[in-house]
Amino acid sequence: MVGGGILGLATARELKSRVPDASVCLLEAEAKLATHQTSHSSGVIHAGVYYEPGSLRARLCVEGAAMLRHYCDQREVPRKANGKLIIATDEDDLERLDALELRARANGVAGLARVDERGIAEIEPEARGLGALHSPETGVVDFSLVAGALATDFEAAGGTIHPGTPVAVARPPRPATATDRPEIALTTPAGKVRAGRAVFCAGLQSDRLARDAGGPPSPRIVPIRGGYLRVRPGREHLVRGNVYPVPDPRLPFLGAHLTRTIDGELLIGPTALLVAARDAYRLLRVSPRDLTETAVWPGTWRMIGRNWRATLRELRHSLSPRALVGEAARMVPGLGIDDVEPGPAGIRAQALGRDGGLIDDFLIERIGNGVHVRNAPSPAATSSLALARLIADRALAA
Ligand SMILES: Cc1cc2nc3c(=O)[nH]c(=O)nc-3n(C[C@H](O)[C@H](O)[C@H](O)COP(=O)(O)OP(=O)(O)OC[C@H]3O[C@@H](n4cnc5c(N)ncnc54)[C@H](O)[C@@H]3O)c2cc1C
Repeated sequence: MVGGGILGLATARELKSRVPDASVCLLEAEAKLATHQTSHSSGVIHAGVYYEPGSLRARLCVEGAAMLRHYCDQREVPRKANGKLIIATDEDDLERLDALELRARANGVAGLARVDERGIAEIEPEARGLGALHSPETGVVDFSLVAGALATDFEAAGGTIHPGTPVAVARPPRPATATDRPEIALTTPAGKVRAGRAVFCAGLQSDRLARDAGGPPSPRIVPIRGGYLRVRPGREHLVRGNVYPVPDPRLPFLGAHLTRTIDGELLIGPTALLVAARDAYRLLRVSPRDLTETAVWPGTWRMIGRNWRATLRELRHSLSPRALVGEAARMVPGLGIDDVEPGPAGIRAQALGRDGGLIDDFLIERIGNGVHVRNAPSPAATSSLALARLIADRALAA
């Protein structure tokens, strides 16, 4: 296993429980597990509202959320079903909300209800809108605690975890005979590792590992930064659960929302800005390698050309807290610029095709004896236990 985020850990645990006698080890580049996307998310257990019916995201979100709730309760990881309102603030939104409701119902989202202005105020007294979808089963959790519990399970079953071990992959040598299974050659600072099979859940680095293993260059990972504002202590009561706008159907992001986290904080965000480093936790960080790879990828310019309005809007929201607060205040009018302070940020590993298309669905590719997760955007943390089953099926297939 390569990658110790929630997906790599869930998959390692799944593989070890299916094949207890196999030697399964997990190699993680950072000194700590779950350092990247897993510990920088909104922490929302999504219910499955948004995703194209029949897609992996739709199926595995609904299944995975149920599995995750059960797992958290069993392992005593705190979670809260604090519900979500997706609020329409104008007539266009109302039309899109109808389409979203049909989608959510097709996906089998439980407990869904359509509410009017009065219904909104009953659920979220400080929120306003023309109408909303209410998903009471949406909840919050700290995904890094889930990752920690998965790591404990995996090690208790005999798996081994090696943090501080960045892996490079070499193209597989030709097998000596036609019947020989090709091996996967991995290089680590501690030496070479040869594996019969390997699974790569490397998030922001997944395209590089797939390419080095002989996979196709498309899709490329582009780093999309999600910045948050934190509502000052004493004003968190403005929102009880989660308040979302109706998303732009052309983009795979959900729009800046208000999330009451499991720790009781209220966050506004995340924004969605293409940045110059795959670890741009500081907005202005530049990595020459990351920047060059993003700039030379034809899909980058096609994506920007196609979505220039959204790009400009996100740039504004990222640079101006006032603009982001203004957006959130359309749903919660009592919110003002004095209520917020700078918050955390996460970097999304977004797969982008050569044609400029942002890949929506989860993408798992087999390359030789390796299984590579090439796109695991939100709700991959929610879906992790169900997605791990699918990845394990592919890894164990002959
Ligand atoms: C701002 C933001 C908000 C989000 N909100 C939500 C949400 O509310 N709900 C939800 O379900 N999802 C959400 N997501 C998505 C979710 O966080 C990710 O889909 C999920 O964490 C992906 O897990 P992962 O294990 O694939 O990736 P990661 O957590 O990024 O883990 C990948 C791991 O691979 C390691 N790695 C990389 N290269 C190598 C290498 N060469 N050798 C060894 N190790 C390597 C990395 O160090 C890292 O630890 C959000 C994401 C972001 C960024």
